[in-house]
Amino acid sequence: MTCPLLYRFRVIDKIPEPPTTATARGTLVHAVLERLFDAPAPGRTPQAARDLIAPEWDKLSAGAADLAALVPDDAALAQFLQDATTAVDGYFTLEDPRRLEPAERESYVETTLDSGLRLRGYIDRLDLSAAGDIRIVDYKTGKVPREAYEASALFQMKFYALVIWRVRGVIPRMLQLMYLTDGEVLRYSPDEADLRATQRKLEALWAAIEKSRAAGTWRPRPSRLCDWCRHKALCPEFGGTLPPLPGQEPATVATGPAMLGTSGTTGTDTGTGTAIPGAEPVAKESEVALTT
Ligand code: SF4
Repeated sequence: MTCPLLYRFRVIDKIPEPPTTATARGTLVHAVLERLFDAPAPGRTPQAARDLIAPEWDKLSAGAADLAALVPDDAALAQFLQDATTAVDGYFTLEDPRRLEPAERESYVETTLDSGLRLRGYIDRLDLSAAGDIRIVDYKTGKVPREAYEASALFQMKFYALVIWRVRGVIPRMLQLMYLTDGEVLRYSPDEADLRATQRKLEALWAAIEKSRAAGTWRPRPSRLCDWCRHKALCPEFGGTLPPLPGQEPATVATGPAMLGTSGTTGTDTGTGTAIPGAEPVAKESEVALTT
């Protein structure tokens, strides 16, 4: 959790965040890598993946004016597709898709904790070994997090591991973050203590969110991630004026220490900050959702 006020903007105010070229590229690259595994193993070559890029973009952008507007002319489109190609090519420096057969792709997972908090999200890829070991794979087109932010990047993966453990009764053997553009992989083998700690952290985060909601105060928590915040113009830390909370006005912002105090993150696929690492929280009454 990085910033309670950012959480408010996204989840309480539901202020739209139009796509950027970075988020659109991430979406496109994920689509290409998902489709790549439709082909029989011998056909999963770098060229086959490159050949998917333009058609997948056409599919994504068809009827999506906000996406199409990101590449207003041929030069912008060519650069955009080239950047996606760089990420796709980077994938092939990390593994050979002809040598693996994913068990699941874009897999929806969901569980409800004993506290009633529901967790859900989509996992880019699940691999299953012959021995039954589970590997959770997440593709990133953003930059590799600096060391100080690695734990936050892994928190997203532990979230998924917790859900899988609860649903399948098996602790995933490996969590694998693949930074395609940088050509690096971050791996971690979680144990039961990790996942129990993740559950405690999620429940504490939710309790803090509920407290903020009850008080109606969502404190800004500035960090270097503010540079990527899509709501900076509204943030009092940067001279902005808060909109009224839905159903209330005027809204005020509290000062002092943030109530929601987990470490920062470089979490999203595009390397920007989010309320939950690597993900967009979509809060209903008691729910935390992660997407990549
Ligand atoms: S600019 Fe920074 S402090 Fe303000 S809402 Fe965004 S992330 Fe929070």
